[in-house]
Amino acid sequence: MMLRPDAVVTSVTEVTPEFLYARSVRAVMVDLDDTLLPSGSDLLEPPFRSWLESLSRAGIPVVILSNGTHARVARSARELGIVGLPLMGKPLGRAFQRGLVQLGTPARETAMVGDQLFTDVLGANLAGVVSVLVTPLSPGKPHTQMLRHLEQRLLKRYRRAERAVWPPSP
Ligand SMILES: [Mg+2]
Repeated sequence: MMLRPDAVVTSVTEVTPEFLYARSVRAVMVDLDDTLLPSGSDLLEPPFRSWLESLSRAGIPVVILSNGTHARVARSARELGIVGLPLMGKPLGRAFQRGLVQLGTPARETAMVGDQLFTDVLGANLAGVVSVLVTPLSPGKPHTQMLRHLEQRLLKRYRRAERAVWPPSP
């Protein structure tokens, strides 16, 4: 079940301080492509800026943990005023260790918010980090689209299994 996210949201803006406190999380690693920025675009949406500000006001540090290039990650990180770690090679453990060292929090008190099961969620689960899956901002590049198809099938199966194990009380 290493591909199963601990939580599923439609946008990073749902990952509020209250959402994090409820899960004993006090620091956040966030993916860049299709989580904060549609792939192929350089335009940061204003709601994401205010989301980061609300976390900052709550004293929750955020770092960008991306498999993207130096230039792309640096530009967004600078614009948002947070640290950006590029070329991380998620889902490898060293990526998440790097993020944890940067944030200074233990894995179980840290969340990874991202749009892909095979990089963000898998890596977070293996590292003992709280995994939060967001709906991707764009369909993505061709190889991503193939993975997304598989991700949707897995998520459907998880949802079915959840309903089977926990039937809603009438
Ligand atoms: Mg992504």
